[in-house]
Amino acid sequence: MDLTLREQIVTYGLKLAPSGLSQGTSGNLSVRSGDGFLISPSGMPYEEIGPEDVVQVALDGSYRHRLRPSSEWRFHRDIYAARPDVHAVVHAHPPYSTGLAICRLDIPAVHYMIAISGGDSIRCSDYYTYGTQELSDAVLRALEGRFACLMANHGMIATGATMEQAMWRGVEVEALARQYTLALQAGKPVVLSDAEVTQALEKFGNYGLMAARSASA
Ligand code: 13P
Ligand code: ZN
Repeated sequence: MDLTLREQIVTYGLKLAPSGLSQGTSGNLSVRSGDGFLISPSGMPYEEIGPEDVVQVALDGSYRHRLRPSSEWRFHRDIYAARPDVHAVVHAHPPYSTGLAICRLDIPAVHYMIAISGGDSIRCSDYYTYGTQELSDAVLRALEGRFACLMANHGMIATGATMEQAMWRGVEVEALARQYTLALQAGKPVVLSDAEVTQALEKFGNYGLMAARSASA
């Protein structure tokens, strides 16, 4: 059980770069485990992380490991504490999501796939230094009623009922960010009405395996 979860961190960490979500040692990922969570070690290239390098962290932030947990363990911890529906968290610095976050822009409902966020927008959090409790508090506010958010001048967070779903959602957030960025360059994006978004949200629960799993999560 524990090894399977550790292997998920290794396997999905390796998917970050080919999925267009991260490069180098940027980003981090975790899965809920026991009373706490398993998280990628800080500053270690994903190609070098083995199952034994994944760090188990308790909800009070304590850990017993030769490696340090990701510097962002606080927002991972705070998301698990606040959101019983979330069992996996992916944080990354993908170019389009981060580009919008540098402009401190939310992603409005410009495509029905906004439904992956669980609401009618993907909010951008306020800016705070990486790894701080202030950043975690800001991220939790941006995630209110949502499964994903942007982080000002930093990146993006996607959550899920499983690691597979969190990664799927992260890739979809980056696609939305890319579409919105291109639309801003081409003209004036038209935002869907509340009624149109509500219809999309209702229908989306029945669409595809990942969304259905999301709806029942
Ligand atoms: P870690 O290597 O400590 O996880 O930090 C990467 C990162 O993205 C910090 O925001
Ligand atoms: Zn980061």
